[in-house]
Amino acid sequence: MNVQRTMDSLKRGGFEVRYFESAKAAADYLDESIRGKSVGIGGSMTIEQMGLYERLTEHNTVYWHWRTNDFATRTAAAGAEVYLSSVNGLAETGEIVNIDGSGNRVAATLYNHERVVFVVGVNKIAEDYERAMHRARNIAAPLNTRRLGLKTPCAVGEEIRCYNCASKDRICCGVVTLLWPMRSVKVTEVVLVGESLGY
Ligand code: SF4
Repeated sequence: MNVQRTMDSLKRGGFEVRYFESAKAAADYLDESIRGKSVGIGGSMTIEQMGLYERLTEHNTVYWHWRTNDFATRTAAAGAEVYLSSVNGLAETGEIVNIDGSGNRVAATLYNHERVVFVVGVNKIAEDYERAMHRARNIAAPLNTRRLGLKTPCAVGEEIRCYNCASKDRICCGVVTLLWPMRSVKVTEVVLVGESLGY
């Protein structure tokens, strides 16, 4: 994967981009730069692995449904000043791909925040848009259904890939591709981490 090409493509589109060698350094940066804010977090193993909820709650009001599992938290997160998410695929050509089942995460990345931050391990980078989409559908989604213990073919089958199922447990209901920073979001930032994080 080509980190520099990815950063250059994102910057051309007007995204703010920062690179950190380690998850610890990235978490330190976010901890320092998010203070006294309301913060929403989308479902994210990356955020979980980085311990960001625990760090940010020390000096912000943080809404994360992974800690409360209720809709009020999802709604509050969508209206927060800062919103954090990871991505399911990041193209070296600059497209940011996220796939979702309930929609709260992808919806909240699109509208009306002071700052949206995508925290992304380099394992999410794909050479181009088609490969980023392929990654989201055939790697990220099946690994998430396995994590959740669902009964979809991608969760129970031997091969890790999408079977384009009609399961009631299907988590791939909508895909959002960010081509350019949204106009209602003042700052959209990609924090790249030189480690493998999340799915
Ligand atoms: S569409 Fe179904 S089979 Fe494909 S990744 Fe999503 S849940 Fe799995």
